[in-house]
Amino acid sequence: MFTKILIANRGEIACRIIKTARAMGVSTVAVYSDADRHALHVKMADEAIHIGPSPSNESYLVIQKIIQAALQTGAEAIHPGYGFLSENAEFCRQCAANNLIFIGPPIEAILAMGSKSAAKTIMADAGVPLVPGYHGDDQNYEVIKQAANQMGYPVLLKAAAGGGGKGMRAVFSEAEFDEALGAAKREAINSFNDDIMLVEKYLLKPRHVEIQVFCDSHKNAVYLFERDCSVQRRHQKIIEEAPAPGMTDTLRKKMGETAIKAAKAINYEGAGTVEFLLDAQGEFFFMEMNTRLQVEHPVTEMISGQDLVEWQLQVAAGKTLPCTQAQLNISGHAFEARVYAEDPDHDFLPATGILKCLQAPSETTHVRVDTGVIQGDEVSIYYDPLIAKLVVWDTDRDRALQRLTEALSNYRIGGLTTNIGFLYNLATSKAFQRGDLNTGYIEEHEQEIFRRRDIDIDYAAPLAAAAINKQQRQQAIVAAKHSVDPNSPWHLYNNWGLPQRNLSIQIQHAVVEQTPDSNTSLDDLMVIPTGSGFDLFTPRGFFHCAEVKADLGTDYREADGGNLSAPMNGTLVALLVDLGTEVKKGDSLLVMEAMKMEHTIMAPSDGSVTEFYFKAGDLVDGGSQLLAFMRSNP
Ligand code: ADP
Repeated sequence: MFTKILIANRGEIACRIIKTARAMGVSTVAVYSDADRHALHVKMADEAIHIGPSPSNESYLVIQKIIQAALQTGAEAIHPGYGFLSENAEFCRQCAANNLIFIGPPIEAILAMGSKSAAKTIMADAGVPLVPGYHGDDQNYEVIKQAANQMGYPVLLKAAAGGGGKGMRAVFSEAEFDEALGAAKREAINSFNDDIMLVEKYLLKPRHVEIQVFCDSHKNAVYLFERDCSVQRRHQKIIEEAPAPGMTDTLRKKMGETAIKAAKAINYEGAGTVEFLLDAQGEFFFMEMNTRLQVEHPVTEMISGQDLVEWQLQVAAGKTLPCTQAQLNISGHAFEARVYAEDPDHDFLPATGILKCLQAPSETTHVRVDTGVIQGDEVSIYYDPLIAKLVVWDTDRDRALQRLTEALSNYRIGGLTTNIGFLYNLATSKAFQRGDLNTGYIEEHEQEIFRRRDIDIDYAAPLAAAAINKQQRQQAIVAAKHSVDPNSPWHLYNNWGLPQRNLSIQIQHAVVEQTPDSNTSLDDLMVIPTGSGFDLFTPRGFFHCAEVKADLGTDYREADGGNLSAPMNGTLVALLVDLGTEVKKGDSLLVMEAMKMEHTIMAPSDGSVTEFYFKAGDLVDGGSQLLAFMRSNP
């Protein structure tokens, strides 16, 4: 076994790898950028090497810096984690050239699966069933469009080099084709510097079921069962589980053996995942193979009792697989919920900020929290806004789901927007509880999942008023101390008395009037000030509240005619309409790109754009007004 490895990654996955390495007696070297100087993975590792500025293309993605760090510290092998350089063939080549072992598959396997198009050709030859579509080399616009037309809509355009749901667009009719192709190609160039496209039949309501495979260098191969990753937003997974609800032994065996066939077709070694779409008839189709450890690997670990990172190290060190297929069993059921800094109410836009409060549920045999941050850390614009992976296990699905909802309701994060409330709604939605899943789940159950959480306003309003009042009183006391004017209104406040005035308070999305009452105690609550108000964590759940200032009106989103401001720092990609041209409510007005994802700003009502304040290519600060919009007369 290795004595020292370098982890070419950050965040939760770097921490997770360090844990296993430590348990195996292998010492670890972390690498870090400026932004990660004080990050948890740096603290946990035995050694840490600074590799440059915060943007990942100046640090975590710079092959030479990583190789140099490994050579300098005497690491024998490099674990790439997921993302960053994990599926980068050139990185793999550089490792070999420097006598460093890449903890992952052989370079040929990475190359073979690196393009979704080329992968489909190899899999077709190996007899693996594919999603029907066009994955040819001829990238002529007419050829692609013709393929889509012939296949019949809806189709899915995908970047051959794609990943993370980027460079992907569903197209429901020929009329939408051009705009969708343009957007998919732009996103692909931006993210992967490659805009080769493939077209697939867009399957309606399939499930995403993937098989974990493992192969060693002695021609042994096993599958560690399946994960159901159907619940997705923006084509990205958000809650995963294992085993897949309703999976039969026969289908599992068939999918497992097909996955091994796929892995063998490319002489695979190490951990890999073969992703399939599964339809209601039990037919399944190859989508792609990921040649690395997946984000959602913990659910497989929980039901199989195996440590996949340990397996990776064993295989990379030339050992045989720790188990045979016959020795592997499924025990119980596991879920993983990805806790993100993002705003589900605004198209899941990534959020940034300081984790002013971070209290995860306690870890037990049933609850595991994989994270790379602690309270006080910042979720920055530079990296994926994943805060933690909440993983739960129990003897059956119902019990495991009960564990998940309980753990989510005990997860307290304050200071920035997170998806915890959304995850809770998702986990408690009826069809999810029944295991009735498909990749369109979130849209299909929108009403139920995005429902404003039923907060008992009679309970919440006095608490919100007390929190707001307390803060104002504290500010007033400070102000009074510094005020020489005996008539200053600040003197109305003191440590004991409360001014009897009505506060207008927004609680989640409701607005209520409430007079602060000195009998309301905030003792066992947690009050976390945020930019716009407070996050209150109460024994009956979490809610956000803020005082509504009279002159702003109550529903600010309606008041400003829809959100025509930049959702976050980013680049303006394209203006889609001409000034003065009549548009319909919901029409696309302009496209912004932030964190390599495109966001379309849409018309809040029928009307027209009277002015654009920026042009394509401009850098725009989050919150800036992007355009002036005039509603048409009703
Ligand atoms: P990425 O590599 O960007 O994650 P994938 O090819 O793995 O892209 O697809 C991501 C998700 O998009 C899938 O999990 C599935 O939900 C959806 N998807 C992909 N291909 C199809 C298809 N042909 N029909 C329907 N949904 C699809």
